[in-house]
Amino acid sequence: MSIQAEDTIVALATPVGAGAIGVIRLSGPDAIKITNKVFKGKDLEKQDSHTVHFGTIREGDLIIDEVLVSLFVAPKSYTKENIVEISCHGSSYIIENIIKLMIRNGARGAKPGEFTLRAFLNGGLDLSQAEAVADLIASSSETSHQLAMKQMRGGFSSELKNLRDQLIHFASMIELELDFSEEDVEFANRGQLKQLILDIQKVLDKLITSFDQGNVLKNGVPVVIAGKPNVGKSTLLNALLNEERAIVSDIAGTTRDTIEDEINVKGVIFRFIDTAGIRETQDVIEAKGVERTLEKIKQARLLVYLADPIQDDFAAVKEQLDEVKAYNIPYLLVVNKKDLLSAEQIEAYSQLSPLFISAKNNLGVDELKDRLLEIVNLANLNSEDVMVSNIRHVEALQKTHEALVRVLYGIDNPVASDFLAMDIRQSLYHLGEITGEVTTDDLLDNIFSKFCIGK
Ligand code: GDP
Repeated sequence: MSIQAEDTIVALATPVGAGAIGVIRLSGPDAIKITNKVFKGKDLEKQDSHTVHFGTIREGDLIIDEVLVSLFVAPKSYTKENIVEISCHGSSYIIENIIKLMIRNGARGAKPGEFTLRAFLNGGLDLSQAEAVADLIASSSETSHQLAMKQMRGGFSSELKNLRDQLIHFASMIELELDFSEEDVEFANRGQLKQLILDIQKVLDKLITSFDQGNVLKNGVPVVIAGKPNVGKSTLLNALLNEERAIVSDIAGTTRDTIEDEINVKGVIFRFIDTAGIRETQDVIEAKGVERTLEKIKQARLLVYLADPIQDDFAAVKEQLDEVKAYNIPYLLVVNKKDLLSAEQIEAYSQLSPLFISAKNNLGVDELKDRLLEIVNLANLNSEDVMVSNIRHVEALQKTHEALVRVLYGIDNPVASDFLAMDIRQSLYHLGEITGEVTTDDLLDNIFSKFCIGK
C-alpha cells in the first residue's frame, strides 16, 4: 500500500445508517482548505487547532446542513495531518451529499483503515498500536476491551523497542569487527551479548506464553460440553445461552448470530464449541464418536462433563470421569438432574466433588458459570502484565526467539562473526515486524484492509 501524503481523504467516521449525528472526517494537507470552500461561517483557515465552529455546508446557494466543524491542525492530530471533523445531522442523504461535495472539491474517498495507516506512517502509532485500534473498535467484552486498550496505549511496544535498541548496538559492534577482520579484534563483548540475549529470551518467553491467555481473552474461552446422550447437554446449553440472549437481545442493533453460542461471565466470553452437534444430541463421548470428540476437545480449553445418575450408576460415572481426566485439559464434572436424586445419591456422588445442577429447572446454572471462571483462572487484567493477543505478533516473537537461539549457539561455538551478525539482524528483523520498524506493503495491506472505511 503506498501513500500519497499530498492528497486529502474523506470518509464517514460514524456507522452507516440514520443517527442523531454523523461525523465526516477529512485528513490531509487540504482538509481545512477544502472544507472552507463549502463552509459558511468563520474562515476556517484562520482558526486555531482544536477549535469547534458552527456554520452551514452549502452547495452554491443550497444549504445542505447546519454543522459543527472541529479542526485539528497538523501535526497535532490522529494522523499528524490536518484533520477536519464535520458533525452533521445523521441522515444518510446529508452524509452522502457532504462527502460527494468534498470529493468534488478535491478530496478522495478513503480506503479501509487509511486514517490509521496514515497515523502509523507518520509516526503517530506503531504497528501493534494501530492493530489495537481495530481490536478496540471490535471489542465486545470488558476483557477484550481492556486488552486492546492496553496495547493501544503502548503495551509491550516500549519494552521490545528498548531490547531491540540494545541488540542493534551489538549488531553494529559485530559488524564493525568484520571491517577489522584481519586484526582479530572483538568490539562486542560476548559475555554481555550473551546476557542480553538471555534477558531478551526471558521477555519473549513471557510474551509468547501470554498469548494463550491473551487470545482466549480476545476471542473467548472455547468450552466443550460432553456427556452421553440424554444426560441433558442441550438443556444445559439452552439454559446457559437463553438467559444471555434475553439480556443481549434488549440491546438494539445486536444480531443474534454473533452471540449465538457465547456467554459473557463477568466480562469474560465463553464460546461453546459444536453446539449444533450437541443440539442434535449426538453421542460425543462414546466409542463411535471418539474421533470427533477428540477433535472438539483439542479445540477446547475447558471441558464440561455432564453425568446423569439416573442413567448411570456411581461406578459408571466414576469410569467416565477417568476417561475425561485422560484428555488432560481442565474439566468440570457436573451431575445433572439433581431434582431426581435422593439425599443418599447426592452424598455418594459428592465423593467425586461434582457440581450438582438441574439444567431443566435452571438450578445451579449460575454457580456453573462462576466455576467456569474459576477454572480458567484468567490473570487479573488490572495487573501490569502485558499480553499478546495477536497471532501475527506471537509468530514474530517465535521467529525472533529461534534466531536468538542461533545467536547463542554462535557465541558458544566457533562461528564466524559474519554469521553471528546475520542471525542478530534476523532477530532484529522479526522484532521490528511487530512494531512496524520493518514492514512490507503486503503486510500493511493485510493489516489495514481489515479495518472499515473511516477508521
Ligand atoms: P442431551 O442428549 O444430553 O442433549 O440431553 P437433553 O438435553 O436432550 O435432555 C434429555 C432429557 O433429559 C430431556 O427429556 C430433558 O428434559 C431431560 N432433562 C434435562 N435436564 C434435566 C433435569 O435437570 N432434570 C430432569 N428431571 N430432567 C432433565
